[in-house]
Amino acid sequence: MVSVEGVDKWFGQNQVLFDIDLQIAEGETVCLIGPSGSGKSTLLRCINHLEEINTGRIRVGDDLIGYREKRGRLHELKEHEACHQRVRVGMVFQQFNLFPHMTALENIAFAPIKILRVPKAEAISRARTLLERVGLAAKADFYPSQLSGGQQQRVAIARAVAMRPTVLLFDEPTSALDPELVGEVLEVMKDLVRTANMTIVVVTHEMGFAREVADRVVFMADGRLVEQGEPAQVLDSPQNARTREFLSAVI
Ligand code: ATP
Ligand code: MG
Repeated sequence: MVSVEGVDKWFGQNQVLFDIDLQIAEGETVCLIGPSGSGKSTLLRCINHLEEINTGRIRVGDDLIGYREKRGRLHELKEHEACHQRVRVGMVFQQFNLFPHMTALENIAFAPIKILRVPKAEAISRARTLLERVGLAAKADFYPSQLSGGQQQRVAIARAVAMRPTVLLFDEPTSALDPELVGEVLEVMKDLVRTANMTIVVVTHEMGFAREVADRVVFMADGRLVEQGEPAQVLDSPQNARTREFLSAVI
């Protein structure tokens, strides 16, 4: 479902991703871990085409990210043309980024109406179902400023799911939350992993979560994929010294 091949990424003179290869199967849940500055967010942003890559290829389903294939030739997409690709890749950020002037319900229904052209009544009804699913049926008419951080993040997750993306990317969705609010957001994510059959990539420092839900854990350091495997293998018996050093610092 997601195929990253030979990807390099530079910011000016600074190379931050080195020859990244990563294949993610349909329905797979991958947790991406690694120290600060290792390139985890940049890799997610490249998959979502929020950043352009310098070398290599990224595919999501049939889409070659950033390009259109026409009669066997590749044409680079302009920014406004890339939108249809981005719609299929949902993203949840550390900062929830809800629209402040819209209620929880409106936040969720907005993009399906505007971008997917879902009829308004249907989008609202789907949004209510999603709010229920993240445990916030009673908060439909609340504005973001009237919600706790954990509640806002659950709305943000519902908003991403409402677009029915084929791939959902999470970039440290709980790291901006007060500790007592982390659990409720992780529960919503666990429910999603179990029931939604979506392809999911989560950058996280929550090792317990990774152990419980990931099909695969991928460890990055210094812009490289260093080690990957089943959670128990990577987290309990890491092969690489860099992974061992990181894990002993976080656990
Ligand atoms: P963290 O765990 O702190 O979120 P990360 O693994 O997500 O770290 P990235 O944010 O991907 O790391 O950053 C990787 C490298 O790219 C860092 O050296 C960072 O300074 C650099 N970088 C990221 N975004 C930009 C940008 N927009 N311009 C220039 N350099 C950037
Ligand atoms: Mg990051």
